[in-house]
Amino acid sequence: MQLHIPFSEIPEQGMHVAIIDQSLLPEELLGKAGPVNAALQLTKKSEGRIEVQGTLQVEFRLSCDRCLAGYDYALDAKMQLIVELPENERHWRLQEIELTGSDLDTLQVIEPVVDLEDILRQQIYLGLPAKQLCRENCLGLCSHCGYNLNEGQCGCHGGKLASSPFAVLASYKKQK
Ligand SMILES: [Zn+2]
Ligand SMILES: [Zn+2]
Repeated sequence: MQLHIPFSEIPEQGMHVAIIDQSLLPEELLGKAGPVNAALQLTKKSEGRIEVQGTLQVEFRLSCDRCLAGYDYALDAKMQLIVELPENERHWRLQEIELTGSDLDTLQVIEPVVDLEDILRQQIYLGLPAKQLCRENCLGLCSHCGYNLNEGQCGCHGGKLASSPFAVLASYKKQK
């Protein structure tokens, strides 16, 4: 699959790129995700300025930061960004001053090539939650016995009772 697209190969009417590919996942995410599914439209805004917009979908199998359990996470993102050559930007800003306030993400490139591999990897990282939780109110693991508290209360009562001699007695009785 051609994922490095020279600006010169993008026709005036634009270009549609459909990608279903696993190999462009960042190495550390391989094995945690299904194929990357992207439908992108590349539009030539000017000779050195390409707009990339479309959708990106990836199914992930993540593990919860709190309880370590595996859970499914579906990344489903809209993307819109500009890829441009730096010297072109200066012209652009002078000519189209009203657009400088645009909040479109801009990716500056040295060569006139749209590197979709790089762009999609970036978008995948942006689309992943910073804190990976199986559920918003995940209770996590007991810090004393490691029991998954989402599955109920552990036997050690968070270690609070365990430090008192009565607790030792209590657990002794329980075992009997
Ligand atoms: Zn969890
Ligand atoms: Zn416990």
